[in-house]
Amino acid sequence: MRHLLTRAGRELLTQIASSDCLLAFDFDGTLAPIVTSRDSAAMRASTRRLFERVSERYPVAVISGRGRSDVASRLGEARVPWVVGNHGLEPGGDMRRFERVVARVRPALEAALAEVRGVDVEDKRYSLAIHYRLHRNKREARLAIARAVASLPDAMRVTAGKLVVNVVPADAPNKGDALLALRTRVKADVAIYVGDDVTDEDVFVIDEPGSLLTARVGRSVRSAAPYYLRDQREVDALLDLLVKARPETRR
Ligand SMILES: [Mg+2]
Repeated sequence: MRHLLTRAGRELLTQIASSDCLLAFDFDGTLAPIVTSRDSAAMRASTRRLFERVSERYPVAVISGRGRSDVASRLGEARVPWVVGNHGLEPGGDMRRFERVVARVRPALEAALAEVRGVDVEDKRYSLAIHYRLHRNKREARLAIARAVASLPDAMRVTAGKLVVNVVPADAPNKGDALLALRTRVKADVAIYVGDDVTDEDVFVIDEPGSLLTARVGRSVRSAAPYYLRDQREVDALLDLLVKARPETRR
């Protein structure tokens, strides 16, 4: 894993910036700092300004685990034509079916976790997120959640994130599927994707050097991403570089 903002990395980014490229970002932990209360997640003012300027120069996508309208409401004035929610599945062709699966699974999950304090189930309509930030013993919380998801009536894809366990219909598209579909749709030669969490690994594992550059916020030996940014604040430096690499706005 190499730092993205070395001299060589900057040259590569500048080169990509001069081609037909798509820029895609995760939201929490990437464009916005991680916060204790998920409802208050927001971009810093500096990031918001830079992201707006980036969105005037490039086709931009945000691919988040949040519900689509939730994340869309947090993007300020940026022109983001592609906002994908629920880890890559929203919007999509199978929404009614995913909605039915989630509606069936949620009561079972809530019943199984009713006695566990400090754990709450977030209903994102097409997927569920079990948050355990408030549980006093994180290991105990993870065990209780693992037991609960093992008893579910439908096949679900379960991904552990940062103090959250994501529960998604098993055959739903993931973030990697969403990004590849967007790259084709935009007719971009190259896509850049930045994320920070476990569901972003679905993008990081795609090995297409030359047509996909991925970076993880935070260095990690367990990540498949070839590049990293040191921390969430370095996203501003990346956005700034991308703005400077393309001085002209598109519209
Ligand atoms: Mg994230």
